[in-house]
Amino acid sequence: MPEMPEIQAHAERLEARFRERVLERFTPLNFTALKTAVPAPDEAYGQPLVGVGRRGKYLLLRFEPVTFVVHLMQGGRLSVDTKRSKKPRGGQARFVFAPIESDGGGMNDAALLLTEQGTERRAGVWCLPTTGALELPPLDKLGPEAATIEAADLAGLFAANSMRIHGFLRDQHLVAGIGRRLANEVCHRARISPFATTKKLGAEGATAVVDALRAAIADDLEVERGRDDMSSSKDRTSRVHGRTGEPCPVCGDEVRAVEYSGYTVNYCPTCQTGGKILADNTTSKFLK
Ligand SMILES: [Zn+2]
Repeated sequence: MPEMPEIQAHAERLEARFRERVLERFTPLNFTALKTAVPAPDEAYGQPLVGVGRRGKYLLLRFEPVTFVVHLMQGGRLSVDTKRSKKPRGGQARFVFAPIESDGGGMNDAALLLTEQGTERRAGVWCLPTTGALELPPLDKLGPEAATIEAADLAGLFAANSMRIHGFLRDQHLVAGIGRRLANEVCHRARISPFATTKKLGAEGATAVVDALRAAIADDLEVERGRDDMSSSKDRTSRVHGRTGEPCPVCGDEVRAVEYSGYTVNYCPTCQTGGKILADNTTSKFLK
């Protein structure tokens, strides 16, 4: 799933390409794609795209007076669509802009196409009034941004929400923008166990996590900003995420895994748990 750095770089990419383009129409290609009834998307017709922003893992395509909020979920993509085929594979919705003359002399009639591969059909678009959009669902309950949260604020959230740090980091209501991969990477960079209790981590732990977050995000952003399109998970370089059985790039110990349905917690025992191997859910279930 794309996380904060991928979404942020993509927002910048889309803004550079489509800013000031006039929206002609928005077409849902699947009946589940548009999640809101009011305001109507056509309130933005004839209006130029003011900018493309991000909140947590949501992309915000801002027009006046409405903003389209896009969530890609697991397998979604919002891509430049030059084919404009009637039934694109995995097609969810399409933003059609008024054609403009391109630098190359021809007409640029590229659209933006939201696709989602797989059968989940959870990606979607919310149409919100641009004024006050951040105070409305699905954006209103998001926690502070992962890239800018201060250590003191994180320490306060740690004290108020006693839980495992890995789950804490992935909870969008506590901190917005982090997914499974960054949660693994941040715990490793901060040298803390993914199962450490937030309350016990305290102010010192919060500082370590904030430093790790900023460093991991900065590295990812640099890579993503150098790309023409959003990376897929296989393109992303990680230190422990998805590296079960490989040597830790910091100390050479073997990267370990704890499997859950749908995701894997990866960690390095030497760097993070004082050498302790954490119980693997799947294996221990079989051993019982
Ligand atoms: Zn290590």
